[in-house]
Amino acid sequence: MHEWALAEAILASAKQVAEQESLKEVTEVTIKVGELQQVEPPILRFALTQMKTDLFRNAKFHILKINSTLKCRVCATKWQFNLKKLDKATAEAIHFVPEASHSFIKCPKCGSPDFEIINGRGVWLQNIKGVKHNG
Ligand SMILES: [Zn+2]
Repeated sequence: MHEWALAEAILASAKQVAEQESLKEVTEVTIKVGELQQVEPPILRFALTQMKTDLFRNAKFHILKINSTLKCRVCATKWQFNLKKLDKATAEAIHFVPEASHSFIKCPKCGSPDFEIINGRGVWLQNIKGVKHNG
């Protein structure tokens, strides 16, 4: 259910940006979601449309999934991780418990399960578009 808390935070920061840029109306909001983040885009989108204020009445919400980049702590190899290449059960386990990824993913070079996630966690506001106040 944390999609609702996220939606609230996203709308709050989008509102701040809109105020800084003197927008009277927001038409597009682009949000990036790391694929290892425990977020369901359809639920996030639903939460956004339910919680949006007048400022966002005509806004389209774009939710982009970001691939993960992992870095081995042993040999410093970096590699792109694609959740879709795993079997479904494993992908779901990682999606719901990102920490579990260490049991499933190993460095392609040295086989170490000790890696850090450089990209692929987190949710952030990429940009917003809108209509400026006249004058
Ligand atoms: Zn390695």
